[in-house]
Amino acid sequence: MLKVAKFGGSSVAGAEQFKKVKAIVASDPDRQIIVVSAAGKRDKEDHKITDLLYLCNAHRTYGVSCDEILGQIEARFAGIRDALGLSFDVEGEFAALKAKLVKGMSVDELVSRGEYFTARLMAEYLEIPFVDAVDCVFFGMDGQLDQEKTYAAIAGAYAKCGRMVLPGFYGCIPTGRPRLMPRGGGDITGALAAAAVNADVYENWTDVSGILMADPRIVKDPKPIAEMTYGELRELSFMGASVLQEDSILPVREKGIALNIRNTNEPDNPGTMIRENIVESEEEDRFITGIAGRKGFTILTVTKHNMEQSTALCQALTILDQYRVRAEHITLGLDSFAFVVSTAALGDAVYELIADIKKSCRPDDVDLRDGIALVASVGRKMTFRPGVSGRLFKAIGEGGVNIRTIAQGADELAIVIGVEEEDYETAIRIMYEGFAG
Ligand code: ASP
Repeated sequence: MLKVAKFGGSSVAGAEQFKKVKAIVASDPDRQIIVVSAAGKRDKEDHKITDLLYLCNAHRTYGVSCDEILGQIEARFAGIRDALGLSFDVEGEFAALKAKLVKGMSVDELVSRGEYFTARLMAEYLEIPFVDAVDCVFFGMDGQLDQEKTYAAIAGAYAKCGRMVLPGFYGCIPTGRPRLMPRGGGDITGALAAAAVNADVYENWTDVSGILMADPRIVKDPKPIAEMTYGELRELSFMGASVLQEDSILPVREKGIALNIRNTNEPDNPGTMIRENIVESEEEDRFITGIAGRKGFTILTVTKHNMEQSTALCQALTILDQYRVRAEHITLGLDSFAFVVSTAALGDAVYELIADIKKSCRPDDVDLRDGIALVASVGRKMTFRPGVSGRLFKAIGEGGVNIRTIAQGADELAIVIGVEEEDYETAIRIMYEGFAG
């Protein structure tokens, strides 16, 4: 068995967290490649090292000295080193960094130092070789990841070193200069490493014990999800659940590698296991895997009697596309169709967009309703199960919530309803109470 374990910022925030990581890595020899984010917040008042580094850069941009912030960052790393009795030359490295900053250093290189120093300290502490991401994560000049070259380099480094510690969040462009990934990119590095070595499991260690069935700010003590499919994860993350972003885990999904979300502060909890397919157990009868939703949608309804529906629909969709507005859902009636779109995406272009629809579709009426929230119940077990939507709508109706739109994905993985924003929390609670038990 081969595992890649990625530890997020809160898992490496200070010396105490480093100790937990060491125990986790030591407890399973299958954990071969360790990917780390930059040290994150130790408590609510604290700052992420990455944020401080961006702040340094902002100071540079406006010609203000960033010595004080750099001093804070240096002290954080020196503190970890001293508490763990390590010898990494934090002071020497920072002196060199400051000298380079004076000569000129890109923002990407400066910010990447958060993961670099964290990984250097972690490698020394775990007594596992450090491999720099600039030597094995490659981007083209166009900024796109060079997947083939990256996989070959990571697999090569692993063949040479065996166990290794790799900083997340950056790689390099062909000139050798560091290049950052999007925020939270440590997850991408972990997924790339797992895919490169064909790992059996990609472990993503955070500060939550897996994914919960609903937002704990809305539902009290929601149950954790023990296992789910990648398809379900995609639906939930798209609908706003704060879980890993779909595109960051694409490399492992493509290779059929299982993803396990774990909690560094509760290492005995198995967390959530995500796979392409799940062998269903007989006794598990819960048919909703999770509930998620988002506010901020508008319903745009176009009505025209005796319309040539497909032509009008096609024209309206083309217009939405021209304004870069994505139709989240489409409902068709005999003499009307309606789109659910993001209110923010419509923005100020809404009037021009409606004028264009009027010009090309010649409708009897165009109606706009904003303040809509979408709520999705996601579950692979809803597929082919009769009566699920009936029960769901009945419960929502009995709870006094008016459903404005209904959509079920073609794969029957999710039932999405549109409700007034003021009913959003109630709808989620009703769904959870009625179907999660
Ligand atoms: N340190 C980076 C961030 O804060 C990347 C990561 O944590 O994955 O966004």
